[in-house]
Amino acid sequence: MIILSINAGSSSLKFTGFDMPSEKVLISGVFERIGIDGSFYTIKLNGEKIKKEVELKSHEDAVRILTEELVNYNIVKDLSEIKGVGHRVVHGGDKYADSIVIDKNVTDTIRELFHLAPLHNPANLMGIEAFQEYIPEATAVAVFDTGFPQSMPEENYLYAVPYEWYEKYGVRRYAFHGISHQYITEYMQKFLGKENVNLITCHLGNGSTIYSIKDGKCFDTSWSFSTNSGLVMGTSSGDNDTIVVPYVMKESGMSMEEVLNTLNKKSGLLGVSGVSSDSRDIEDGIKEGNERCILAQKLFVNRIVGYIAKLWCPLKKVDAICFAGGIGENSIMTRKQIIEGLSSLGVELDEEANNVRGEFKLITKEGSKIPCYIVPTDEEVMIARDTYKLID
Ligand code: ADP
Repeated sequence: MIILSINAGSSSLKFTGFDMPSEKVLISGVFERIGIDGSFYTIKLNGEKIKKEVELKSHEDAVRILTEELVNYNIVKDLSEIKGVGHRVVHGGDKYADSIVIDKNVTDTIRELFHLAPLHNPANLMGIEAFQEYIPEATAVAVFDTGFPQSMPEENYLYAVPYEWYEKYGVRRYAFHGISHQYITEYMQKFLGKENVNLITCHLGNGSTIYSIKDGKCFDTSWSFSTNSGLVMGTSSGDNDTIVVPYVMKESGMSMEEVLNTLNKKSGLLGVSGVSSDSRDIEDGIKEGNERCILAQKLFVNRIVGYIAKLWCPLKKVDAICFAGGIGENSIMTRKQIIEGLSSLGVELDEEANNVRGEFKLITKEGSKIPCYIVPTDEEVMIARDTYKLID
């Protein structure tokens, strides 16, 4: 059975076609610069990468071309062979703990939550609507980034603000990247041969997040209310004192929108280094002795070490700390610095083992208080699995 796994962003649409239940990837690719000059798409199949430049005015254009290419490249003879389309949806509020077949109630909820995820939910919905038009017979499934962390207990997701703010306005901690953390958790459950795993899972990429997993379920996370919270990100500040916003508005004369935009798009690794949001550039800067790159990396690592320590304590016994995401899977330097930061808690790096990129591996010494692993994540297959489960 063929299932498409879709991740629609504001100007991009990523897709992977799976044969299920074998989970074999048949085709994958991405449409980029949708609605912007210079749009193009790339397709990967049979080990080859094909790039085509084409005008993409909307997500609908991208989906139309994708359906044509699926036939052109013989992935399907007829679109009716695609039985399911799974959509990554960033914000499901506290309404959806599990993936769900999309109907009007679901699309209404995604729309109602636009204000909580203004960069993501509108794009996710555009993707859903475009597929409804071109492959209406396929079962459409929403897989929520906020789903897996719904198991957090109240004391971990509530703020110490008037309780009515939670009741009336939904002011509480949400958490994103849930699809990736769920994948890592299931991978480790299989690897360790038990369901009730206790883990600390670190998804470190352009956006970064840490979860603690207790008995196989999300217990706490580094996220807070919005997607700009917790760890230092590529262009986002992560945690800040609320008062920073009105203070900078007053001092600088910037509007609230300008300050928030600066915290989202001009902060993080980029804001501190003044060089780049990309950790590879930061590493190059560090090698060249650039003081601001060294400082940006210190902030990035310190915040991670602090969150790991904070999330570790309530778990008592931790089976493993896992690293995933572009940085977690590939940055030898960052993993080394994080694990060295945890040395006072008895975590011991194996330098030689850590000298790898993008493969599942134990990277701590045998006597380490907690073993650390690189666990390459796969959000696409997670979306396809949930979609497959929901098809009658
Ligand atoms: P996103 O959050 O957008 O999904 P990714 O998980 O793809 O991001 O991660 C992007 C980050 O991973 C970038 O900062 C990039 O520099 C980093 N990265 C990718 N490859 C390497 C590498 N070989 N060494 C260090 N960092 C890397």
